Amino acid sequence: MLKWEQNVRKVVPYVPGEQPNEPGMIKLNTNENPYPPAPGVERALRELSADRLRLYPDPTASVLVQALADRNGVKPEQVFVGVGSDDVLAMAFLTFFNSGKPIFFPDITYSFYDVWADLFRIPYACQPLDENFQIRREDYFRENGGIVLANPNAPTGVAESLDGIRQILDQNPDVIVIVDEAYIDFGGTSALPLIPEYDNLLVVQTFSKSRSMAGMRIGAAFGQLKLIRYLNDVKYSFNSYTMDLTALTLGAEAVKDEAYFQETTAKIIATRERVKGELQKLGFRFPDSQSNFIFVTHPDLEARELFEALRERRIYVRYFPKPRIDNYLRISIGTDAEMDALLAFLREYTGKRG
Ligand SMILES: *Cc1c(COP(=O)(O)O)cnc(C)c1O
Repeated sequence: MLKWEQNVRKVVPYVPGEQPNEPGMIKLNTNENPYPPAPGVERALRELSADRLRLYPDPTASVLVQALADRNGVKPEQVFVGVGSDDVLAMAFLTFFNSGKPIFFPDITYSFYDVWADLFRIPYACQPLDENFQIRREDYFRENGGIVLANPNAPTGVAESLDGIRQILDQNPDVIVIVDEAYIDFGGTSALPLIPEYDNLLVVQTFSKSRSMAGMRIGAAFGQLKLIRYLNDVKYSFNSYTMDLTALTLGAEAVKDEAYFQETTAKIIATRERVKGELQKLGFRFPDSQSNFIFVTHPDLEARELFEALRERRIYVRYFPKPRIDNYLRISIGTDAEMDALLAFLREYTGKRG
C-alpha cells in the first residue's frame, strides 16, 4: 500500500441496481414508476429558458418547499429538500447520529444505511426481522444512538403500523428516529401526522417512486422546526445549491397535481394486487407488499437461476446475494402489459419445471 493510501477514507460503496437501456426491455429492477410524471411537469420543462441557467438557483428552494408544505399541511420551515432522498438521508445521518452509540436498523432493509454509517464512521447494530420479515419492536427499546426504519420496508415491501412506529418513538425520546417513507404512497400509513407530538421524528419521502421522477433527483424530509433547522445548517455547510432550477420548478409542478398522483398510485396498487393473485397461483410466496414491488420466493425454484433466465428475455428484476434473502427476487410493479409479459414467462418457466 502506498503511504498516502493509509489515510484514504475507505468505503465499500453502495451498488445500485443495474440501469440497462435496451429497446424492448422490461425494467422491473429499481422500483421506478411505469407512468410518466404529471402533465404539468412536461409543460413546465418546455417553458424553462436556458438563459435562466446563468443565475444560481434559490438556495432556500422556496417554490418546492412551499408546494410540499401546502400539500402536507405543515409550515415551510418544517420541510427540508435534497437531491433525492439518498441525499436527504445522508445529510440526516451526518447531522443527527453523533452520539458514538450504535444506531439501529433492521438486518434486511435499504442497503444504503450501513454504507452511510460506514462512510460517516457511525457505529450501528442491525436488528433481525422475524421469520415473516416483521420488525420486532422490542429490539428498538434498548439504548441506541438513533433509529432508521424504512416503512414500508425495502426490499420486503412489509409495512409497520403507525402504532408500531409510535411505540418505538415513545421508547426513544432521546434520539432521532428517521422513518424512510420511499414507498408510503402505495399502501402504508404515513408517520407525518405524528410530527407535532414528537420533536425527534424525521419523516423522509422521495419523488423517485410515486411521483415518477427518479431521473430528476428530489427528496424531502419533514419534522419539527428545530430538527429541520439543524439539517439545513449542515446542508448549507456542505453545498448551498443542491437543488437546481429544473428540479425546483418541476418538483413544485408535480406536487400540485394531486389528482394525477392519486390516479397513478391507484393504478399501480391495482396492478400489484392482481399480480399477487397470479403469482400465488404459480406457487410463489411473498410477504404481503404495501409498496410498488413484490419480494418473491418459490419452494421449487432457485432465485438466481430464475433471475438469469428472466435477464436473457430482457426482463430485469433485482436479486440480492445476501444472507436470508438469497432465494428471493424483488419485482417492481410495471404497467399491466409489462406484468402480463412477466407472468407469461413465469407460467412457461414454472410449467417446464413442474
Ligand atoms: C428508492 C429509495 C430511496 C431513495 O430514493 P431517491 O431516488 O434517492 O429519492 C430511499 N429509501 C428507500 C428505502 C428507497 O427504496
